[in-house]
Amino acid sequence: MKLLTLVVPIYNEQETVRPFVERIEEVWPQIASAMGKGATLEILFVNDGSSDLSRDVIANLKSDVARLRLVNLSRNFGKEAALSAGLHHACGDIVVPIDVDLQDPPEVIAEMVERWKSGAKVVNGRRTDRSHDGWFKRKSASAFYSLFERLADHPVHRDVGDFRLMDRDAVHVINQLSEQSRFNKGLFSWIGFEVDTVEYKRPERFAGETKWKLRKLWSLAIDGITSTTTLPLRVWTYLGAVIAFGAFIYAAFLIGYTIVEGRDVPGYASIMVAVLLLGGLNLLSLGLIGEYLGRVAVQVRGRPLYVVESIEEIDAGA
Ligand code: UDP
Ligand code: MG
Repeated sequence: MKLLTLVVPIYNEQETVRPFVERIEEVWPQIASAMGKGATLEILFVNDGSSDLSRDVIANLKSDVARLRLVNLSRNFGKEAALSAGLHHACGDIVVPIDVDLQDPPEVIAEMVERWKSGAKVVNGRRTDRSHDGWFKRKSASAFYSLFERLADHPVHRDVGDFRLMDRDAVHVINQLSEQSRFNKGLFSWIGFEVDTVEYKRPERFAGETKWKLRKLWSLAIDGITSTTTLPLRVWTYLGAVIAFGAFIYAAFLIGYTIVEGRDVPGYASIMVAVLLLGGLNLLSLGLIGEYLGRVAVQVRGRPLYVVESIEEIDAGA
């Protein structure tokens, strides 16, 4: 007996839930045959504080092929936290986080299972075509990955989202990490294990609208960098040293000059430039330290990543 758990975060998705389940039921035979005899399916919805009818829609679902469960969070904690909640409550031998809007095509799972059977503990889904994502999102994502690759100690896999297959061993390790600023992509690449990749085309969202506004994406990017690398902090030590060295030389020159040539009044411009430049650098580096310090504060408070309000068994399945 092998159990596959699909972890599905839900935030205001009343019109997408039902088609999602139908689509999964359609492709399940394919996945089941890849998994081999005795394959069973569990769909675990994590309701991330939806304010629409998502919860009722899910509560009324029925399925012949899958066991349906619902974890209700007490408010909207964000997709990263919802995924963590899902991973904690998943029972499967293999676990696949998947978006409810069918942007992660379920057919790919069968291929992932094949790779898993040949030994991979983590099988990433890589998007080859993001043409539906919009110019700005593509460009900003690509800029982020380039910056990240240069900074991070463990580069994340490019164009790999949360859609991936994980073996129980990998899930177990992820569940033990107690980090508060969750950047799942970073964690998944950090844990190691044998990794394989399956490529797919990312289709358009079929209903509803995206929940990732620019501000959320920006804070995810900052989270990603500050939770995986301390390089941005170290840069200031070197930059500070170079500037201090320059200032020291210049001061020596000024003293010499004044002794030899006497005092000379002009120099407003150079002083302003120096003051503004150093002031700007100071604020920038302080802000950077603040970003890290803020995360340390959050970690020290040690609040849980999410609060579970209730867990419901919707349908025990066949
Ligand atoms: N989601 C969530 N909590 C949030 C935002 C999104 O659980 O605060 C879920 C959402 O319901 C969907 C998935 O995360 O199942 C991906 O969201 P979306 O399609 O809006 O993101 P995009 O595909 O645009 O990156
Ligand atoms: Mg989407």
